[in-house]
Amino acid sequence: MAETLSLFDDDVRGRIEALRKEIEHHTYMYYVKDAPEISDGAFDSLMRELRDLEREHPEFADPNSPTQRVGGAVGDQFAPVQHERRMYSLDDAMDISELDAWMDRVEEALGELPELVCELKIDGSGIALTYEAGALVRAATRGDGTTGEDVTANIRAIRDVPLHLREAGMPGIVRDGSVELRGEVYMPKASFESLNAAAEANGKQGFANPRNAAAGSLRQKDPTITAGRDLSTFIYAVADEAALAADGQFELLEWLGQAGFHVNPDVARVHSREEVHAFCERALERRDALPYDIDGVVVKVNSFVRQAAMGYTARAPRWAIAFKFPPEEKATLLRDITVQVGRTGALTPVAELEPVRVAGSVVARATLHNEDEVRRKDVRIGDTVIVRKAGDVIPEVLGPVESLRPADAQPWTMPQACPSCGSPVIREEGEVAYRCISIDCPAQSQERLVHWASRGAMDIDGMGDEIVGRLVESGRVTDVADYYTLDEVELSLLDMGRVKQDGTPVRLGQTVAAKLVAQIDESRTRGFARALFGIGIRHVGKTMAEAIARAYPTIEGLMAADEEALAAIEGVGPKIAHSIFVFLRTPDNVHVIERLQKHGVVLADEPPEAGEELPQTLAGLTFVLTGALVQSGMTRDEAGAALKARGAKVSGSVSKKTSYVVAGEAAGSKYDKAVALGVPVLDEAQLLQILETGEVPEM
Ligand code: NAD
Repeated sequence: MAETLSLFDDDVRGRIEALRKEIEHHTYMYYVKDAPEISDGAFDSLMRELRDLEREHPEFADPNSPTQRVGGAVGDQFAPVQHERRMYSLDDAMDISELDAWMDRVEEALGELPELVCELKIDGSGIALTYEAGALVRAATRGDGTTGEDVTANIRAIRDVPLHLREAGMPGIVRDGSVELRGEVYMPKASFESLNAAAEANGKQGFANPRNAAAGSLRQKDPTITAGRDLSTFIYAVADEAALAADGQFELLEWLGQAGFHVNPDVARVHSREEVHAFCERALERRDALPYDIDGVVVKVNSFVRQAAMGYTARAPRWAIAFKFPPEEKATLLRDITVQVGRTGALTPVAELEPVRVAGSVVARATLHNEDEVRRKDVRIGDTVIVRKAGDVIPEVLGPVESLRPADAQPWTMPQACPSCGSPVIREEGEVAYRCISIDCPAQSQERLVHWASRGAMDIDGMGDEIVGRLVESGRVTDVADYYTLDEVELSLLDMGRVKQDGTPVRLGQTVAAKLVAQIDESRTRGFARALFGIGIRHVGKTMAEAIARAYPTIEGLMAADEEALAAIEGVGPKIAHSIFVFLRTPDNVHVIERLQKHGVVLADEPPEAGEELPQTLAGLTFVLTGALVQSGMTRDEAGAALKARGAKVSGSVSKKTSYVVAGEAAGSKYDKAVALGVPVLDEAQLLQILETGEVPEM
């Protein structure tokens, strides 16, 4: 027991050390090189994991851990500057519940939820500006929070930084004293785009994002380069609040504006959790429309006295929180790679992930497409991987964090046997996918059954994965023709593989069974094109099936066509023709087709042949239809077609030549005209009688 525990501890220590090393590397690339290798979302999830592990295992704490310090580093190309007071980072809330937990802590510390100020979190680079006797004397980057880099010459090149404070803004400051102000240097999105476009045109590498472009432009040796870059600032803080007459953050922002600084106008003074939530939601909605990048909302306790009462942790104030927008990328564990068998037998590797919330939804699985893709990305079971989900887009595994790979992780290869039926798998020349070619493969037949019932095909509403799975499991349904042999009683008793509280099995039940049987029944006449799509011939999609059905409106005709004739159908070509030809000559498939026909599934789209024509007993008669045919539920068009099939003419207006007017419910002016002209009027019951017998009843 003791042994397992220490082994586990070693694992944890190893993971902590690997994470620290990885984070150090990315911190350097981000702050010193201005060239991040991974997204902020992915970086934040590594940081989060480290913070959680350190919290659970205080025995491995280390003051030099990246969790204990303010992110930045100090490069050696600029003179170091000691900050008058430490520049802190911000703690972050990754979702609303973490934001609420922070508000709970504030409420607990101060005895009530105080007035709060919500600001946009500008995604730029932190700076400190020192003014003496009202004049700018020094500007520094945040660096590691204690020591920054002297970038005074470069800051002077930014046009919205006042070189002198405006008189109007001086009330809160001792005129002869010095004051250190803080804010953010940023590059507008449009300027970032054109900077990168210019770099690209010169064959140079651009910046990863506007934040890095701002930080990189600020940290140029030559201030004329900085001057040529379109940088701006938003100033929002003062190093020593006590030196000011302002009583809180909101008033400070007003003061900063009057003193000549560029202050972000999107600020709100709020008093409740709901107002904070609403500000965050609005900011997220407006994010894309803003001309600069923001990565969240900063919520601060307004009163400076109350801020002081709450104080600071080692790296951040307790009186403020950064609510971060849901990131589109996160790091998570790749637990397994499973293989899914599609209806055409294609094997698809699927990443089984430790569930993570990405861009607002939980991601637990993501397709890895095919073996080549797995190899190209080199993702292995046990890897920490970066998962991306932008907006509504399907989640994607971008790749592994290689330095966090377990020592024994092996490259992944496609299994040589189908995971469903155990048959050998093959990869055809020129194809990326491996396939199971067994016709008895249960995974394939289940997928085929679901496909047949799907909306674009036979549209058997309610026949989804779960019920099909149970039908396959019970052995009752193995191919699509079996659907048409099911009866209501049998379906209602289908065991759903779950048990009720009293231990008896859950069954499908009569209501659902009745609906399904009705749906199955209706699906018999959906037409040839949809059946052709539904039956699942490789490469034959919906549009292709329609083209084929136009060229060959019956299954018999299609089965008689040779490969050459098939290839001549619009959009088909030799490869698909071969696929159709082979499918229709495979005995199992022929057997299914015959059984479908036997059970009344119509595999033809053609009009009745000449021999089957109805007797033309209504030839020479002209009908006009008006009103709604409520009894039969037929549309007027359908009724008209039925009359025409018996040789009648159907006209839209009543004249003396009209033989009969058929008046349904709510018949209008045509009925009146018929009466006026003396044209005989039939009701719906009489119409139905005509259609049934082919004869007009004695009037
Ligand atoms: P942070 O950027 O999350 O938050 C703190 C900073 O927000 C403050 O220092 C301040 O400069 C800024 N800020 C913007 N608007 C503000 C406002 N209205 N009020 C107060 N402060 C405001 O934390 P951080 O420690 O500076 O940096 C961490 C960030 O850098 C994270 O987003 C992280 O993902 C990123 N990072 C990325 C990589 C990478 O490789 N991609 C590496 C390191 C860090």
